[in-house]
Amino acid sequence: MVGAGAGGLSAALLAQSAGVRTTLFEAHQIPGGCASWFKRGPFSFDAGATTLSGIGPGRPLTLWSELTGAPLDLVAADPGLVFHLPGKTFYRWRDRERWQSELARVFPTLDHRTFWQDIETLAERAWEFLPYVDGFPPTRVSDLRHLPNWLKGAGLLPSLFHDLETFRRMRQGESAELSRWLNALCMISAQNVAPQVPALIGALALTYPSETYIPRGGMQGLFEGWLKHYQSLGGEWRPGEKIEDLQRLQQDYGHVVMNTTSWSLEKLLELQPTSQNAWGAFTLYAGVRLQTPQTHAYHLVMPALDSGVEDYFVSFSIPEDLARAPSGWQTVTISQHTREASWYGLPTEEYRARKAARLQQVWAHFLTEFPGVLEQKFLQAGTPKTFERYTHRPFGRVGGHPHAWNFPLWRWPSSRRREDLTQLGDTVFPGQGIVAVVNGALTWWRGSGLHPDLKRNT
Ligand SMILES: Cc1cc2nc3c(=O)[nH]c(=O)nc-3n(C[C@H](O)[C@H](O)[C@H](O)COP(=O)(O)OP(=O)(O)OC[C@H]3O[C@@H](n4cnc5c(N)ncnc54)[C@H](O)[C@@H]3O)c2cc1C
Repeated sequence: MVGAGAGGLSAALLAQSAGVRTTLFEAHQIPGGCASWFKRGPFSFDAGATTLSGIGPGRPLTLWSELTGAPLDLVAADPGLVFHLPGKTFYRWRDRERWQSELARVFPTLDHRTFWQDIETLAERAWEFLPYVDGFPPTRVSDLRHLPNWLKGAGLLPSLFHDLETFRRMRQGESAELSRWLNALCMISAQNVAPQVPALIGALALTYPSETYIPRGGMQGLFEGWLKHYQSLGGEWRPGEKIEDLQRLQQDYGHVVMNTTSWSLEKLLELQPTSQNAWGAFTLYAGVRLQTPQTHAYHLVMPALDSGVEDYFVSFSIPEDLARAPSGWQTVTISQHTREASWYGLPTEEYRARKAARLQQVWAHFLTEFPGVLEQKFLQAGTPKTFERYTHRPFGRVGGHPHAWNFPLWRWPSSRRREDLTQLGDTVFPGQGIVAVVNGALTWWRGSGLHPDLKRNT
């Protein structure tokens, strides 16, 4: 197993817990990759990912945790997300009726019920289909055992070929503000705007904040727990080892699972990259002491269009989580989409000036949106270069390939690179997010046919 991001560690745990001996190589000293953490003074900052979803009976993280025995110590976030549009704040409550009332309050002229019913139905069906994507399209005879599931999922095909925004307009009519909000929400988990995102994936993106969870102890708590469990099962943990010679690894170990990006693996295999189109992240971190503690962990801020500030996602540690910040303090992680071209190929001074200017711009906006910051510590920023340094992702491209109706699942890089070489992680379908890469690990493991429980399930 190469790469202890969420994909690699979850795959290693599946194999190890079934009695298959594994070795997990990681270039960094700690696991987590894009969902890792770093310490400054008494604070533990989530470096990239902050939220968890895909929890509940039969959902990927729950199923995976049941199979591996790996801990999931989580706090449910309700609201799952707070939206800040210019002059409007509204809440994504878990309870469907409460959420519908919230939408009716914020967008009173639109009919929300039909659209959200369709979205929820589509998302449910997508979750049922996702476990079988590893064998689709079929490349070996054994894949055909999934045929009944594919036929069941055949009704979903059209929703891969029409976009989410058209789907919404058919039901709700025109609303520029609603479209903007939908775009921002799709960007978080599908990495693309609603007119580009297939309705099927859009349905997952829109329903995800209804069941958002906060890991206790942040990503540090989550990944240290998983790693400890992996080692307790006898898994061999090899931090600080960057794999550059794949041939040698295959000679030594037989089957290799690469949980690195498609770009890195394609370079090692001297293949043409499948697609270079991907986002980078600009991030900001600080420890804050607030006049009134912030009890809602996750916020999506959409600044006024003439402010010059791009949309950003804010995550607060919860006040009672003293593993992340001392009493009276909270950590803040802010993230924005950015393009690698804005950060690479610049003279050092220009790069630094650009980074400092963006930090000031976003932080100033944050302070107006969240008044009551009495004190701040360790304010600092990260760019795609920072992500490249710590996660080894070329050009700091994070989040995988953006979902687009003209880039359907069979055009994504295959997880089956060769008989003895598997690729996992967020550059294989279904892409971005911890739940997606854990789902990828599960589908791979199912396809490997080694686990008795999984064999029964399939
Ligand atoms: C700013 C930001 C916010 C996000 N927010 C969320 C969120 O809230 N919720 C969510 O679910 N997802 C979120 N995501 C996405 C999520 O973090 C990723 O999709 C997911 O963590 C990717 O996991 P992975 O295992 O595929 O890859 P990675 O996390 O990239 O892990 C790959 C690992 O492989 C290691 N590696 C690479 N090359 C080598 C090599 N040659 N040898 C050895 N090791 C190697 C790297 O060091 C890294 O640890 C966010 C991402 C970012 C950047």
